Amino acid sequence: MDNKNPRRQFFIQAAQAIAMTMMGGLVWSAFLKESRANPLILRPPGALEEKEFLKHCIKCGLCVEACPFDTLKLASAGSGKPIGTPYFIPREIPCEMCPDIPCVAICPTKALEPKLVQSDGIWEINKARMGVAIVDKEHCVAYWGIQCDACYRACPLMGEAIKLELKRNERTGKHSYLLPVVESEVCTGCGKCEKACVTQEAAIIVMPREVALGAVGTNYIKGWESQDEERLEDATLHQLRNSNKNLQEVQDYLNNGEL
Ligand code: SF4
Ligand code: SF4
Ligand code: SF4
Repeated sequence: MDNKNPRRQFFIQAAQAIAMTMMGGLVWSAFLKESRANPLILRPPGALEEKEFLKHCIKCGLCVEACPFDTLKLASAGSGKPIGTPYFIPREIPCEMCPDIPCVAICPTKALEPKLVQSDGIWEINKARMGVAIVDKEHCVAYWGIQCDACYRACPLMGEAIKLELKRNERTGKHSYLLPVVESEVCTGCGKCEKACVTQEAAIIVMPREVALGAVGTNYIKGWESQDEERLEDATLHQLRNSNKNLQEVQDYLNNGEL
């Protein structure tokens, strides 16, 4: 075969280039597909909000290497998660809540932002908000009246992030339920409760906060909380500013003689 024929070589190279481009296109579209964030992905402590996280994470894997418990994994092709980004699956290996948070400390781009897990420059792992635990009341055996506190006991913030609530069993009239209840404001999303759950499929699962929790909106105010009184003042100011703005617009409209 005459590989030295420049014309023949040109056609071979052109065909190879087209094939490569087509393959590249396929790989790229697969990459894009996987890059659309899986809404159920759980990120390491200190991770920025998902959209910002994806912009900042350079997929270096340093956080994964730094994790002493092998909690963190890097998403691979076909996993349905943005390729090369770190995540964890609590039912397999939860976050062990390292006090010095090595995964965050090593991140070169602040995709894992130290300020989100520090107070006055001191590491504070309890500030992490990797997700929030949700109890599946249909499958949690404590809701059937069977005594179980495995999730409660596994929680590093036992009694704060997860509590046991006593409730009378109306069905028997004699017994009580001891029900696990998660305090979403305190829960770090470490997933130790999910790992510890005794049911075949965990009846308490950690979900991304933006998926699991609603957003109330600033117009609802709890009158009994001081923080909310400040919000009320802010909201009143905001409304005043808006109503002044609307008034000005009406005056301008009338003055322009457009009636
Ligand atoms: S805090 Fe520790 S256990 Fe948790 S992800 Fe970071 S390095 Fe791993
Ligand atoms: S260390 Fe930071 S930039 Fe590197 S993979 Fe982890 S989160 Fe992404
Ligand atoms: S995820 Fe579970 S174990 Fe971790 S803080 Fe929340 S309730 Fe506790």
